[in-house]
Amino acid sequence: MKVFTESKSAQPVPNEIYCNKCGRALIRNKVGYFEDFLEITKTWGYHSPFDGQTHEIDICIECYSEWISQFEIPPQVEYAYLQAGEEYA
Ligand SMILES: [Zn+2]
Repeated sequence: MKVFTESKSAQPVPNEIYCNKCGRALIRNKVGYFEDFLEITKTWGYHSPFDGQTHEIDICIECYSEWISQFEIPPQVEYAYLQAGEEYA
């Protein structure tokens, strides 16, 4: 959950972000970046229990790790960076 103060900026930056699952405030470093977290925005369609609602949630890395450990099929993983032993083609 993001908490904003009033801003005239077209892209407002949240002052605080809380994990929707555990309620912990995400840590913000000295230059203003928040620790990484999962953001989900979902607009539910017809024939769902949330018909027409848009849900927004933020999940901290600890809660995300716990959540995916319960999956029968783990997330598909791709790496954004080279791994040890790999070289650029
Ligand atoms: Zn959490």
